[in-house]
Formats: sequence, C-alpha cells, structure tokens
Amino acid sequence: MDDYNYLREVEGKTAHDPYGNMSFRSSAKRCVWVPSPVIVGAGPSGLAVAACLKEKGVPSLVLERSNCIASLWQLKTYDRLKLHLPKQFCELPLMSFPKDFPTYPTKQQFIQYLEDYAKRFEIKPVFNQSVVSAEFDENLGFWRVRTAPPGEVEYVCRWLIVATGENAEAVVPAIEGAEEFEGAVVHTSGYKSGEVYKGKKVLVVGCGNSGMEVCLDLCNHNATPSLVVRDTV
Ligand SMILES: Cc1cc2nc3c(=O)[nH]c(=O)nc-3n(C[C@H](O)[C@H](O)[C@H](O)COP(=O)(O)OP(=O)(O)OC[C@H]3O[C@@H](n4cnc5c(N)ncnc54)[C@H](O)[C@@H]3O)c2cc1C
Repeated sequence: MDDYNYLREVEGKTAHDPYGNMSFRSSAKRCVWVPSPVIVGAGPSGLAVAACLKEKGVPSLVLERSNCIASLWQLKTYDRLKLHLPKQFCELPLMSFPKDFPTYPTKQQFIQYLEDYAKRFEIKPVFNQSVVSAEFDENLGFWRVRTAPPGEVEYVCRWLIVATGENAEAVVPAIEGAEEFEGAVVHTSGYKSGEVYKGKKVLVVGCGNSGMEVCLDLCNHNATPSLVVRDTV
C-alpha cells in the first residue's frame, strides 16, 4: 500500500473518508477509500486517462486484472503482429512515438512505448485486481468497486472510469458438432505462431484483420489454411 499512501485502508468493515465525516459499511474483506478517480483497466485507454488526469494534477488509481500493463498486447497477441493502423492513428495523448518508429510499429515496439508512457507519467497500476462489480451507492453518492476473491477488496470512490477494452474478452461462437471435433480449437488470442501447425490443414473462421494475418502466418509456416467467411470480405 506504500505507493498509494493517499488511500485509506480500513481494517474493519466500517470506513470514514479522509476528512472523518462520513462512514460506510462493506461486506468485503478489505475496504479502501480512494479520494481520486478509479480507472479499471491498464490497457492503452486506461493509461491515457491516467496520464491526462495527472497532467491536470489529478492522481488516480488504476486497477488491472492481469499482472502487467497492456495485457492484450503482451499476453493475447500473435508473434508477428504489427500495428494494423498507421502509427499516427495509434499514439496516446501527451507523448509521441519515437521518431524512428516505422509506419507500422511492431508489437514489441508498441509495448515498449506503453511501458515508457506508464513510466513517464508514473502510472503504477494495482495488478491482479479483477473487478467483478461496480455499483453506485445512491445513499453515499459513491461508487463501490469490488474485486474478485481471493483478496477481495471494495474500493469506494467518487469517480469511476471503465477502460476494460472491446477486445479484452475472447468470443468463441458455439459451433454445432464442435465437441466431436478431435483437433485443437484455438481463439486468436491464444495463437502465437504457425510453427506448431506445420504440414497441417487449418480452418480459420473469420476474415477480419486477425483472421487474414493468421492465414498468412500459417502459409509462411507451411501449413494449409482455409478461410471461412459468413459475409462479404
Ligand atoms: C490483433 C489486434 C491488432 C490491433 N491493432 C490495432 C492498431 O493497429 N491500432 C489500434 O489503435 N488498435 C488496434 N487494436 C485494437 C486494440 O483494442 C487497441 O490497440 C487497444 O489495445 C485498446 O486499448 P484499451 O485500453 O481500450 O483496451 P485493452 O487493450 O483491451 O485493455 C483493457 C485492459 O482492461 C483489463 N480488464 C478487462 N476487464 C477487467 C476487469 N474486470 N478488471 C480489471 N481489469 C480488466 C484487461 O486485462 C486489459 O489490460 C488491435 C487489436 C488486436 C486484437
């Protein structure tokens, strides 16, 4: 808790705000009063919000369910990934990409940029905090933001920013007969490289950016992909 000495951690189940003029009860194991905005998610959006607040002199607390910043990029993307959009559309506010970045930076370059960004704005998320609910308590006028057990905590704050991403959850459609299929079924968030598919026939479902790039990667590793598309390309 040293990094967050502006927080008030409460041992019991009743807490007072830093001015001692309000109390609230919580059924969570630990209850933490946060006198600043709470940001859920330490992806690019959460980092950008934290940096912009900091720029205005407003501290914040970032809660992240994984053990690193930019977990989508660090943990759930394939090896050959480069930014899909030209770099001018992808940099975060207040800090440009390094001048020598190519038009389409690699995944590693983008991750390094995000690490440098967090360092520059001294953003130190609390990791392994998976938010399971956020309720606005009308009586108190505060948000109650609860994290998953073990180590369940209830953060109580006035401002809440949800930056949990649009791609953070893998969506795997129910495919009839899939349970009888004997091969591996992998979502792209778990795909790293075509190396393990060498010599194999692979069906790629969906032809967005990821589907097409995975097909190319499979070809480069001497696998034989087929692409199935439900609509136009
Ligand atoms: C293959 C691929 C290529 C892409 N290419 C580009 C590109 O070139 N340019 C571009 O701009 N965008 C691109 N994107 C889109 C991508 O969504 C953004 O780059 C960016 O990661 C979005 O940032 P975000 O912070 O909104 O969400 P995310 O990066 O998804 O971050 C959300 C964070 O919230 C955390 N989180 C989620 N739920 C909880 C919870 N309940 N409690 C606590 N933490 C939680 C997650 O662990 C994660 O760290 C690409 C995406 C993919 C998958």
